[in-house]
Amino acid sequence: MSKIPMTTPLVEMDGDEMTRILWKMIKEELILPYVDLKTEYYDLGLKKRDETDDRITIEAAQAALRLGVAVKCATITPNADRVKEYGLKQMWKSPNGTIRAIMDGTVFRCPIIVRGIEPNVRTWKKPITIARHAYGDVYRNAEIVVPGKGKAELVFTAEDGTQIRELIHEFDGPGVLQGWHNMDHSIESFARSCFAYAFDAGQDLWFATKDTISKKYDARFREIFDRIYAEEYRSLFEDAGIQYFYTLIDDAVARVMKSEGGFIWACKNYDGDVMSDMLSSAFGSLAMMTSVLVNPDGKYEYEAAHGTVQRHYYRYLKGEETSTNSVATIFAWTGALRKRAQLDSLKDLEHFADALEHSVLRTIEEGEMTGDLALITSLSHVKKLSSQEFISAVRRRLEEELNGG
Ligand code: NAP
Ligand code: MG
Repeated sequence: MSKIPMTTPLVEMDGDEMTRILWKMIKEELILPYVDLKTEYYDLGLKKRDETDDRITIEAAQAALRLGVAVKCATITPNADRVKEYGLKQMWKSPNGTIRAIMDGTVFRCPIIVRGIEPNVRTWKKPITIARHAYGDVYRNAEIVVPGKGKAELVFTAEDGTQIRELIHEFDGPGVLQGWHNMDHSIESFARSCFAYAFDAGQDLWFATKDTISKKYDARFREIFDRIYAEEYRSLFEDAGIQYFYTLIDDAVARVMKSEGGFIWACKNYDGDVMSDMLSSAFGSLAMMTSVLVNPDGKYEYEAAHGTVQRHYYRYLKGEETSTNSVATIFAWTGALRKRAQLDSLKDLEHFADALEHSVLRTIEEGEMTGDLALITSLSHVKKLSSQEFISAVRRRLEEELNGG
């Protein structure tokens, strides 16, 4: 069989620990035998980041902007232990943070739904994708512990010295005080990424704030979403038969719990932090959650939502058998290959991405899975496989799919 051709290379960002081991297995077993794979390779493994003073991360992010589609392996974000373990020159920043800052994107997290791994919420039939605004609010706050009696004011001083002043509170005793900000530019980027992603996915977009209480701050978010929708997306959405739906955050939470899923949920920074953890645990497993960074100009970086699965790696290094779930990392590859295929009009490559995903789901639904899923599945007669055995089991089904079986 001749290999499936590609035209534009993917940006390939390799990573660390157990996911780096899975990365190699996935490429060798599930992609290279079938696809004439073209990638621009960047090694974001911690050793290489240290050697290059982290320039490799910046170059990889710039390549993603240039080529448009990237696939990333999980990477270590160094802490004090890692500095010692790897003898690092310094505590390098989170690669995901660096990449996000350069691409100016929004992260969309989406669960992979498979029969046998049921969500805790019975009504959820389709995935709910969550998009978290990644700038500002409580994460860039200024705080004061108020020592006692006094007046707190919010003051903005313009470049020409004119001031806007607002009384916060007349304190008659000790308390606390906090200031937040956000910027139109950042909210606009967030809104555009959300509308673009929802349009691409052919799903409704939900957005919620507390603008009944926060009549200026949260209202600004709503106004910006409304304006960008009206000016840039309304007719596209109407033609595609999808909706933009705004409601209050508490109403949104209540509706999410009663919905059947199948939509994109855009959240302000704090709401997204909290709600994405709730959704991923309610959908079953962190190892079944994909993540894609989308920038406002439609550049994409695909990855798994989980980390480098450190404990499994140490077992692997000791020569012990591991049973690490590669599903989200495989879906990062299929997501990137499918996007590349769509941009370059490569039908065979798109078909390959679909076939590989389908093979993964079939493998699990037919009772062959890694230990993390074997523990939570509702299927009976389950076979727990090692990391390598699971990938081989997927490959057997992929061969059948590609040979029209
Ligand atoms: P983690 O790698 O996601 O692992 C946490 C635990 O979840 C694992 O120990 C494992 O539980 C389970 N798990 C996660 N993914 C799994 C998979 N694919 N298959 C089976 N089990 C899985 O998070 P962490 O331990 O907090 O972080 C480890 C490293 O990853 C850190 O250096 C962190 O900086 C990095 N990290 C990177 C990213 C990223 O690049 N996007 C994201 C998060 C964390 P058991 O051990 O109980 O089996
Ligand atoms: Mg969190």
